[in-house]
Amino acid sequence: MTTQIWTPLDYARAGKQLGNLHLPHSVHRSAYGTITIPMGIVAGGTGPTILLTAGTHGDEYEGQIALTKLLRTVDPASINGRLIVLPTLNAPAAKAGCRVSPLDGGNLNRAYPGDPLGGPTAAIAHYVSTVLLPLADFYQDFHAGGSSLNYLPFVSTRLSGNAELDGRALAAARAFGAPYLQVWGYSPDPRLSTSESNRQGIVSLGGEFGGGGTVSRQGLAIVEGGLRRLLAHFGLIEEDRDCEPPRPAIELEVLGRDYYVYATEDGVFEPMTDLGQQVEAGAACGVIHAVHDPARPATPQHFEIPGIVVCQRHPSLVERGDCLAHLATPRT
Ligand SMILES: [Zn+2]
Repeated sequence: MTTQIWTPLDYARAGKQLGNLHLPHSVHRSAYGTITIPMGIVAGGTGPTILLTAGTHGDEYEGQIALTKLLRTVDPASINGRLIVLPTLNAPAAKAGCRVSPLDGGNLNRAYPGDPLGGPTAAIAHYVSTVLLPLADFYQDFHAGGSSLNYLPFVSTRLSGNAELDGRALAAARAFGAPYLQVWGYSPDPRLSTSESNRQGIVSLGGEFGGGGTVSRQGLAIVEGGLRRLLAHFGLIEEDRDCEPPRPAIELEVLGRDYYVYATEDGVFEPMTDLGQQVEAGAACGVIHAVHDPARPATPQHFEIPGIVVCQRHPSLVERGDCLAHLATPRT
């Protein structure tokens, strides 16, 4: 079964086209309706094709803003290659301001390679896997911590096991020029967008640029500067003389489940570290208070290994099993 998603835009046409992907979605109020997913294609010259997506999770905003601004302002006459840009890839989730789609509960970054006959989220993943990624020489999917996490902003690569592919991804990440560069050597799930691009042998980057369901001004500036440097790295635009050259990043990695701290109790979490802080093995991550029962002592939560705190939970109320924080370690 091929995709049901269609678009009036022409991937082969030069110039700047702004429009939508249309995913048929028949419901009570709209029998022949479609879900519209905004997309821009900007092409000229003979350079490579760069696929850029944000809003894979609807409550992560730095990428959504930066890609919208890019489409609004980019001059097709200045582009050598092709940009395919989707600022709100999981459009129903972005419209709702939620991590997952309100239509099917789907988490787009746990849906690859997708299913054309699944729910809307699986159908979007399938279109990316079978139509967009095969057009691309390079892919970047912009993330943040969403409503439940805060991140130290970083650009990231995900190890594929293919040394040549991983080397090109690392070179692209360094060209992006974020203050922190993280290599994911551990993947909690194989159904990620960047895992799919790895499976297809396409160089890809990710990145977490803020969180808390809001816009990090620092994270947005990192994304906007990084995008200009990345497009210059791939030869789509001239080097921007006004754009600060990339500074050497602090390079980090995540290598296992023991980098993560999970709540052992329900309650109110009091953190005892800040993003960017170095901690030792066994250090206090925080305590969980049983606020409904002041007679009970608070329950300490600990880091298993030494590292740098790059992610912390945002809402204070926690349930047993929630991720409270995770670490990264200097890249070896
Ligand atoms: Zn995300």
